[in-house]
Amino acid sequence: MTKDQRPAATAAAPSNFIKDIVRADVRAGAYNGRVQTRFPPEPNGYLHIGHAKSICLNFGLAAEFGGRCNLRFDDTNPVKEDVEYVESIKQDVRWLGFDWGDGLFYASDYFERLYAYASRLVEAGKAYVDDQSADEIRENRGTLTSPGKDSPWRNRPVEENLDLFGRMRAGEFEDGSRVLRAKIDMSHPNMVLRDPTLYRIKRVPHHRTGQKWPIYPMYDFAHCLSDAIEAVTHSICTLEFENNRALYDWVLDELGIEPRPRQYEFARLNLTHTALSKRKLIRLVREGRVAGWDDPRMPTISGLRRRGYTPESIRTFCERIGVSKAENLVDMALLEHCLREDLNRRAPRVMGVLDPLRLVIENYPEDQTEEFEFANNPEDEAMGRRMVPFSRVLYVERDDFREQAPGKWFRLAPGREVRLRYAYYVTCTDVVRDASGEVAELRCSFDPKTRGGWSKDGRKVKGTLHWVSAAHAVRAEVRLYGNLFSAADPSGADEAEFMELLNPDSLRVLPGCMVEPGLCLAKPGEIFQFERNGYFCLDPDSTPGRPVFNRATTLRDTWARIERQKDK
Ligand code: ATP
Ligand code: MG
Repeated sequence: MTKDQRPAATAAAPSNFIKDIVRADVRAGAYNGRVQTRFPPEPNGYLHIGHAKSICLNFGLAAEFGGRCNLRFDDTNPVKEDVEYVESIKQDVRWLGFDWGDGLFYASDYFERLYAYASRLVEAGKAYVDDQSADEIRENRGTLTSPGKDSPWRNRPVEENLDLFGRMRAGEFEDGSRVLRAKIDMSHPNMVLRDPTLYRIKRVPHHRTGQKWPIYPMYDFAHCLSDAIEAVTHSICTLEFENNRALYDWVLDELGIEPRPRQYEFARLNLTHTALSKRKLIRLVREGRVAGWDDPRMPTISGLRRRGYTPESIRTFCERIGVSKAENLVDMALLEHCLREDLNRRAPRVMGVLDPLRLVIENYPEDQTEEFEFANNPEDEAMGRRMVPFSRVLYVERDDFREQAPGKWFRLAPGREVRLRYAYYVTCTDVVRDASGEVAELRCSFDPKTRGGWSKDGRKVKGTLHWVSAAHAVRAEVRLYGNLFSAADPSGADEAEFMELLNPDSLRVLPGCMVEPGLCLAKPGEIFQFERNGYFCLDPDSTPGRPVFNRATTLRDTWARIERQKDK
């Protein structure tokens, strides 16, 4: 596939079944044509690329249909939540390019109203306080093939339930001693409807409401009502909540809420060689298997950002993978492809030598320096030009030299001539070894008549090497990344196993790379193409005069290759 045949990164987002539903609702005048969605993260971890899929879908629908999308924190479990997560989530959503305007909410904002709704269910005889222990409740729930057993407390009088629920709220009872349950049907084929718990006692402080509440609503109860309170029209979530939809609707029905939000489910994103579950990611962080949530190997938004991913590339990726109900495993190569496509247009090109080998041009004057002009991106003149210093001693890539070169070797070897990018032709004349016999230095001669990297007599060379001037180069640390997991699909592994599947070689640190002097001025987060070596992002670990670069990705586009093979 040539570059022009590739689907354009900016092509209009294709449709999907959820968009079709929204479009049909708008046409039919449902909700008076209003579209409102929400992204509802639980602040119990950092966002990952799977969340990006949901964010793009929710905010994207709102934008396309002139509606709004709220950011709502589902903060109903204070034991696992933290303000650090709240802040990181806000930062990540903003960074991805989405704006919730004045639509920032917390389920905890609604605790008082949720309590009132629950009391209404109690009054209507639709909820009761159960004194069974958690174990008893679990045992009496039955199984997929056998019905559950009614709790001995199921038929408590309304007054008693009201009194007990009030005292639960007042903090009179121990954690776990009682719960409030919906009174639905203990033999319902959908287990979710077997008298689900609506409130539990947890006498722990909450990061927003402090000590005010000793009871907290369950997700299923809080979520549908939060949607209703905010006047959400389309409540979009992932497939694992499909069975919960019945409860979502039951709560809204019993409370007579109209017009009411409707829940739709889509398949979550799974990506090869990584894990998209906060529970698993949190373990990698806590057990020090990665350097933190923003370790560039992590599939988190903050990790991807630090690695050198751009918001544009992630949004393009989310568009390309589409939205459906079919479970799928997306190839990491597609995500990398979207990044290359974006950076190829935008990242300035520079020269950086990852594994430096000294090259001395013996017939070049010792005290001479000259500068060559380089285009910052040959495909885009608007990105400007820069001057790069050249002198007698250079560094080239060790891998660009072979002492015993095969026939088709177009790079350096004894007696072979190559082009130094935009500079001169040089021929290798000799090899200097160190005490251990390793090649320590190449001796070369240059042809002054090839200034700029072109021979006026029409003499052609096939190889073009990148280089840096030793006297001017800046020493940099470069971090190269491999897959976080060796296995293509570690998501199937249980929590004990999945640690074993980690790739032991996911990080390689190269402390002595040599890069162009101009890179000293780069700022953390800036991304460059190191010619022939890939895309590199300046890491916040950099110190003045000592840059640290993360390789975002190589230049080898395995996705384009897969696509080419498919076309054949
Ligand atoms: P995890 O399974 O990683 O712990 P979660 O579903 O518990 O994630 P939430 O904070 O509850 O995380 O998720 C917020 C929203 O993001 C939910 O609507 C959820 O359905 C969606 N989401 C989470 N993971 C994915 C994924 N892999 N693909 C698409 N959407 C996702
Ligand atoms: Mg969740």
